[in-house]
Amino acid sequence: MKIPFPKKIVSHEVAEQELAILERAYPQAVTALHYTNPFELLVSVILSAQTTDTRVNLTTPTLFKKYPTPQALAKAKVGDVELIIKSTGFFRMKAKNIVSAAQDLVDKFGGVVPNDRDALQSLAGVGRKTASVVMSVAFEDAAFAVDTHVFRVSHRLGLTLATTPLGVEEDVTALVPREKWRFAHHWLILHGREICKAPTPLCGQCPVNKICPTPPIIAKLTATTAAGRIRRGAKAAATRRPARPSSAKKKR
Ligand code: SF4
Repeated sequence: MKIPFPKKIVSHEVAEQELAILERAYPQAVTALHYTNPFELLVSVILSAQTTDTRVNLTTPTLFKKYPTPQALAKAKVGDVELIIKSTGFFRMKAKNIVSAAQDLVDKFGGVVPNDRDALQSLAGVGRKTASVVMSVAFEDAAFAVDTHVFRVSHRLGLTLATTPLGVEEDVTALVPREKWRFAHHWLILHGREICKAPTPLCGQCPVNKICPTPPIIAKLTATTAAGRIRRGAKAAATRRPARPSSAKKKR
């Protein structure tokens, strides 16, 4: 059952209440990626596309042991990197991107990860989302990254009707004080991973279920689906041929 997003946003007051509840629910909101410096975080975020943070964390110790700095990774053979990161998926493209990004870090930024959106987004494999994660997590800058969880949960909560990650970013950051943007990203991600899951949210366990606009949509959808099933069952029963008398009865 595909759950449609609400077609209307909630009031500003409700949106603030929802976000306040999530803030209380996830007070220790930090990234699940393991890293010890901005370079490791940057590489880990690039590798995290289309896979889980757990999978990335299983892969990066070997990668960073062999290539601990941008200088080392810049000189790596892409084929060797592919072998190490294979389990993260899309490994050919990711290997090419992280080696290329490391080369640019060395050639253009003195081997240092820049704390600047445009500079970050000039690196291979780094889009707005990755740049926002690096800025907010490594440098504690005001940035709000929109990944698939943030996109889905923001819509289900009625915080946005935007169809693009940038639109969601603009809508949600308008509701949250600037100094909390980097935490709001984690509230929504953690909530999406733990409770407001795709495809089926665990609304019964959700601390915002009294004010979230999605549970009534699910209830209506469930009722419509059940009614449809009953109607189809009744129609099938009405058109079914009467059963033939059994052979035992014929013999009698
Ligand atoms: S009530 Fe349901 S849809 Fe709304 S945020 Fe909670 S889990 Fe998600």
